[in-house]
Parts: sequence; C-alpha cells; structure tokens
Amino acid sequence: MNVSTAESLERTLQRIDGRGYKAYQDLRGHYRLGAFELEVAHVQGDPYAPPSRIHVRLGHETSGFGEAVREALPRRRGLEDFLARMLSAAIRGAGTREIGIDRLGQEILPRTLVGLHGDHLEARLSVQLPAAGRRILGRQAAKILLQVLPAVLARSLERRAVDERALRRHQDVIEDHTALVALLEEREWVAFVAAGAVLPRRAGHDDHPLESPGRAPVIAFEPPPTLTAEVDLPHAGRIRGMAIPRGVTLLVGGGFHGKSTLLEAISRGIYPHIPGDGREQVATDPRAVKVRAEDGRAVTRTDISPFIGDLPYGRSTRDFSTTNASGSTSQAANIVEALEAGARLLLLDEDTSATNFMIRDAPMRRLLRPGQEPITPFLDRVRNLFRDRGVSTILVVGGSGEYFRVADRVIQMDRYLPRDVTAEAREIAPPGGGSSEAFPPAGCLRRLRLDAYRRQVGPKGPRIKAPGTHRLLVEREEVDLGACEQLVSPSQTRALAEILGRLLEGDRAAAPWNRLGAAFTPEELEELLGGLGDGGLDRFSRFPRGDLAAVRTIEVLAMINRLRSLGVDR
Ligand code: ADP
Ligand code: MG
Repeated sequence: MNVSTAESLERTLQRIDGRGYKAYQDLRGHYRLGAFELEVAHVQGDPYAPPSRIHVRLGHETSGFGEAVREALPRRRGLEDFLARMLSAAIRGAGTREIGIDRLGQEILPRTLVGLHGDHLEARLSVQLPAAGRRILGRQAAKILLQVLPAVLARSLERRAVDERALRRHQDVIEDHTALVALLEEREWVAFVAAGAVLPRRAGHDDHPLESPGRAPVIAFEPPPTLTAEVDLPHAGRIRGMAIPRGVTLLVGGGFHGKSTLLEAISRGIYPHIPGDGREQVATDPRAVKVRAEDGRAVTRTDISPFIGDLPYGRSTRDFSTTNASGSTSQAANIVEALEAGARLLLLDEDTSATNFMIRDAPMRRLLRPGQEPITPFLDRVRNLFRDRGVSTILVVGGSGEYFRVADRVIQMDRYLPRDVTAEAREIAPPGGGSSEAFPPAGCLRRLRLDAYRRQVGPKGPRIKAPGTHRLLVEREEVDLGACEQLVSPSQTRALAEILGRLLEGDRAAAPWNRLGAAFTPEELEELLGGLGDGGLDRFSRFPRGDLAAVRTIEVLAMINRLRSLGVDR
C-alpha cells in the first residue's frame, strides 16, 4: 500500500484548487498526517452528492489503547463507543460543518464508527469537500484535512485526551448491563429495573432523561417489596431492583401514571445505555419484542389462526395474506411473526393495541354468537402462550380487569411508582378464565423468497435507502417500519438496508450471503447473521462505511415480513 505524505496531499490540493469538482478524485489514497493515517476512501462525484468518506487510523503505540484489545468484549465495545462520542464532541467543538460523523443516541450499540483492531484504532467519518459552485476550494479543503481534522483527532482518539474515569465508567456500565442480562437468564426473569432508575424521557422526540426544573418532580424508580430482588454486578456491586419473573405480568393503573413509560424502558432494556441516561440498570430478555397493531401493513402467508379464525366468506387464516391488514389481523400477524423469529417475551401496550384483539367483554360475547366473531382475543391466549410455548408477556392494561384472571402478577403504577396488587386483583377476579385450549405449536414452516425484488435489481445492485429510523425505500417501494419500536437508530436501519441489499444480490453476493438459497427460513437467516461473528457489521456492506449499527435478526425478519412483494413457500 502506497502511503503519501501530508505535503503531497497539500500539493495535490494546491494543484486542483479552482478546477472542476471531478479533480477531487485525485485525493483518493492514503496519507500520513503526523500520528494518523488518513485514507480518502471515496470521493463524492459532485458537491451535492453524499459526502466523501474518510477513514483515519491511529497505531496503538500512539493511541495508548494497545492493552484494551485484550479486554473482554463489553469493555472493548465500551471503549469504541466512548471514543466515538469523544470524536463526535470534538467535531462539534471544532465548529466545522464539513466533517460529518454518525449520530449517537442514548443506547450503546455495536457500530462501525470506531473500531479497535489488533494494532490500531480506526474511525470512519465523512467530509463535505468544499466548492464554490462546482469549483474546488483547495485551500479550504487543505485547512479541513490538514489542520482541523488532525486537531480533532488528537483531542479525541488519543489516550492522553481521555478522561480515564469517564471511560472506565462507560465500560463498567456496559459490562454491568451484560452481567444483568446474563442474570435474567440464570434467575428466570424477563426484566430487571433497578431502584433509582430514571425512566421518563424529556419529550416524545427527545430521548434524554426527563429533568424537572420547577415543574412536577421526576420520580426515581422504587421496586415494590414483594418484587424486590438483589443482584451483584461486577462494578456497581450489590443493587436492588424490581425483578419480573417469566410468565404473564400486567401493568395497570390510572391514565398518566407511568405505565407506558415503564413498558418503554423495559422494551429498550435490550440495549445498554450511556452513563447518566437513567436506564443503565434496566435489562430485558434480549429476545423481547414489542408488538402493536399496525393496520395497513401487508401480510404474506402467515398463519394467524391462533388469534383469528376463519374470515367472512370462508377465507382461511392458516395461510393468510393481505395488502391491507386491519388493526386486529395486523397485531395477530405481528405476534405470530415475532414467535417465528424466536421471541421469548412479548411487550404489549393498550395504547397501541387493537381493542378487539385484546378483549371481548361479556355483553359482546352474548351478542355475537359462535361463528360471528373470528377473533380469539389475546386474553384467551396469553396464559397458554406461556404454558405451551414458554413465551412470557408484559402487558399494559388500564381498561380491563378480565386480565387479572390470567396474570401471574399485577403491578399497579401509582403516581409513577409500582405497587404489587396481585393479591387484591386475585380477590376481585380469581384465576381461571382464558381458554384452556393449548396454544397451537408453531405452524407450517415459512420459507421467505425475495425473487420479486431480485428481478428488479439493476447492474448497479439494489437501490435501497434508509431515510429514517423507521423508513426504508426498496427500489420504488416504501417500507414502513414504524411498528418496529425497538429500532432506535437510523444506523440500524441503514444496516437493515445493507442486509436486504446482500439478500437481493442472491448468488452474486459475496460469501457467506450467497449461500442462502432462493427461499430461506428465519432460522437459516439467523444462522447466517450469527455466523458473521464479531465485527460482522462490516460484512453487511460492499464497502466499509462508518454509519452502521447492529440489529437483531428479529428486526431483519420484521423488515422482510413487511415487504409488499415478499414471496413465501410453505
Ligand atoms: P400512562 O401510560 O400510565 O398513561 P405514561 O407512561 O404515558 O402514563 O406517563 C405519563 C406522563 O408522565 C408522561 O409524560 C411521562 O413522561 C411522565 N412520567 C412517567 N414516569 C414518570 C416519573 N417516574 N416521574 C415523572 N414523570 C413521569
Ligand atoms: Mg399509556
């Protein structure tokens, strides 16, 4: 590999100053800038195209992070995430608009932004190469690449720039979360919420912890005595919290008392959170899936018969397809598909559920004779879903006490604090009820086919874009991922787009993607994605990019199941 000097980069920029934008292509290559190596990996074609991509590398002898490579995976992840945030802050601090970096949220996700490798650190950024109209501004580019960038890197990626205590804390928090998730499995819990946790967020569009300057107080979480458990974490030591065992758990309470906030925190508990977030010690079964009603979605050959019997005019629901699902059929499909994807915990909120899917009350049961209502409400299924399939549920219900009969425990949110009201609820509505019928075993094996999309793929490969966390454009089709509530970052959605891209390349794709047949089962997909191993994110994309984050196979399958031209063999 040919590594040029900083002087040669400067000379090139002087030479192309004032020329047409295309001359920027001459920048491609590797340069040594003091302690750093700069790779200009991709140069944008024009000033309005997506920015150019650069990679910077720093050997451990300069970075000082050599021994970190030998640490456990969560600590390495913690270091990568910490440095990514340092870098992001340094770029913001430098006030340059030209240098771009992927956005980071409250969750800590494995990312391609900063990578800790055997002998070096690598960070991937973008640069908007400056121009006046279409004319290269070489001197300005030199300032960005040769002055601002090295200063930013020195302030963020070198050990001496790092606040050691803050770094250690970042790593400790992830390691503790990892330990907490392992404890869930060991103790047969599905979720743990620590005492003192701060669950509410600043606003619907702002994921920072709620603060209360002068307004109503923010109530820290306090577990009810009967559900309190203690755990020992590697760094925080012994902590106390609410442990939710497997089974059926209800969250009840008056409106605006914090039910959805708790459920939402549990749903995000599959991810570690940054120090100061308030949810650092909230952990949830990694196979938790939040499901909701999603009318209008497409459903392809899914067996929704556990919840929906035969439809008007004899339409079967064992092999159900629609381009426009109703509230209840979409929620049924979402649950069945979640089970197919390996869900072990379902999270449902009345706020986003179809009423007729959740419950049918006694007067309605009397009015509608057997055969007139195809829906078996979730109420009748939730108990045996656990008994027969081992899948737990945490459910927010403020409106129906019928659920008391099928719940293992009932937690009331009262002014943002949980109370165990299981005994009272039992007295009001003793256990029993629900259906005694077994929850049907997993139905017919579905094999997913993407041929309709593969046919559209042109020579340049599939055109898939991820314009937001919950939106995907596949060729001309818009895929709404709004119901995939556990997607928390646009970087994850870009990863979904890349994964779909590889799947659409079929046998033209690079190994191991080409090994997946034309029709594949969810399990085969899971095996493929799992087999990519640590650092597998780079195998999602055809070129290295710095703006991808890890997703679960559960979300990949959720995306595929929402494709309107999906084919399914059974
Ligand atoms: P519910 O689902 O019971 O109707 P929500 O969970 O939507 O209630 O909460 C209602 C409001 O109270 C939200 O604006 C939320 O941010 C706020 N909130 C929730 N938990 C707390 C808390 N622990 N302290 C302060 N405010 C909270
Ligand atoms: Mg609510």
